[in-house]
Amino acid sequence: MPLVVRGAGTGYTGGAVPTRGGVLLSMERLNRILEIDEVNLLAVVEPNVITADLQRAVEAVGLFYPPDPASLEMSSIGGNVAECAGGPRGFKYGTTRRYVLGLEAVLPTGEIIETGSKAVKNVVGYDLTQLLVGSEGTLAIITRVTLRLVPRPAARATLLAVFSDIQAAVDAVSALIRRRVIPATIELLDSESLAAMRDTLDPQLVPPGTGAMLIVEADGTQPAVDAEIEQIAAACRDVGAIRVTLAADDEERARLWSARRLLSLALKATGLLKINHDVVVPRGRVPELYAVVEDMRAQFGLRIAAFGHAGDGNIHVNLLINRDDQEARERARRAERMLFEQVVALEGSISGEHGIGFAKAQYIGIELSDEEIALMKRVKAAFDPNGILNPGKIFP
Ligand SMILES: Cc1cc2nc3c(=O)[nH]c(=O)nc-3n(C[C@H](O)[C@H](O)[C@H](O)COP(=O)(O)OP(=O)(O)OC[C@H]3O[C@@H](n4cnc5c(N)ncnc54)[C@H](O)[C@@H]3O)c2cc1C
Repeated sequence: MPLVVRGAGTGYTGGAVPTRGGVLLSMERLNRILEIDEVNLLAVVEPNVITADLQRAVEAVGLFYPPDPASLEMSSIGGNVAECAGGPRGFKYGTTRRYVLGLEAVLPTGEIIETGSKAVKNVVGYDLTQLLVGSEGTLAIITRVTLRLVPRPAARATLLAVFSDIQAAVDAVSALIRRRVIPATIELLDSESLAAMRDTLDPQLVPPGTGAMLIVEADGTQPAVDAEIEQIAAACRDVGAIRVTLAADDEERARLWSARRLLSLALKATGLLKINHDVVVPRGRVPELYAVVEDMRAQFGLRIAAFGHAGDGNIHVNLLINRDDQEARERARRAERMLFEQVVALEGSISGEHGIGFAKAQYIGIELSDEEIALMKRVKAAFDPNGILNPGKIFP
């Protein structure tokens, strides 16, 4: 009997959908923060604590849990661990993986295991903790998570830079990395994404003539933030930014980030079917990725909004089609295969955040060799000899 674990159900690749029937195990009521340890800088939580709730709780005592998927007000820590969720802050702070110290998990054969520990170092045996991170509910049911925390940055500033086209915005990213500046976030939005933001969310954020936008945030001590913001603004102006502005206060900062986080939902609000892919390439190859997107638009006649974490090279390529148009769906299918083949050719990956689930299972052979897939299937069989946990996910 298949057993499918469901966190908050916000996953983008259908991981929590019981495609083969069976039992759906909701983690909804395992939602307590068990411990915030201010000396050892860690938190112990049940899996269905909502990400933003944990962030608020630790920030209240001067600590910080950096992973920030745009879904943070809805998604669960267990789901974040199972998908290895990332977000804008991944550029400076890394993704969920970096913060998981230990797990309690139930194996599909019924045993309970405790992986890792509360210590920050642990090299005993294979790293089962990290094997479970990103395992998409296929290896074990995560019932408790020990997370590393860091001190809350004392100061933050957010800068908005407006460019006439995507190339200038991408050049600005390279320019600021060449200046050895590592901001907390570098978010890039193309013109199609900006149109959705303007029409659905906040017209004032997008001045006429904007072809691309960067949202860059620096954090740290106040002097470090001031110095970084100066460098970032200079890098943007060097490549011809039309406008560079600093969020005046926390309220404006929050408005900006809220618009960015709601962008996915704004694209949905167009009424079109949004097929969201979270491809990733080495950051120096982001311009080539945008060239691929342009080719997809031209070759398949599709509307595509491409935005995301430019510092990580992780761009969300959203194909927007009329949901009743079967012919457009077929074009989108051909376009997505081309996208995946091209990102692998660019030395990247077909998923940087959302995992494979069942939506991308048919494509893993584009990135992984037969030997790698066979080895992964042997790992799966070692955890789950009866193949009951989330069947049909990751592997077609
Ligand atoms: C508007 C929006 C924006 C998003 N933005 C981002 C983003 O910026 N970055 C990002 O990475 N993702 C993003 N996502 C995708 C999604 O929010 C993440 O993948 C998130 O980690 C899923 O968490 P969840 O609790 O909703 O998990 P679910 O969707 O319920 O489950 C996801 C997978 O995890 C497994 N799972 C869940 N809980 C457990 C558990 N306790 N033990 C074992 N397996 C478990 C499920 O079986 C399933 O395979 C976004 C989604 C939406 C809707």
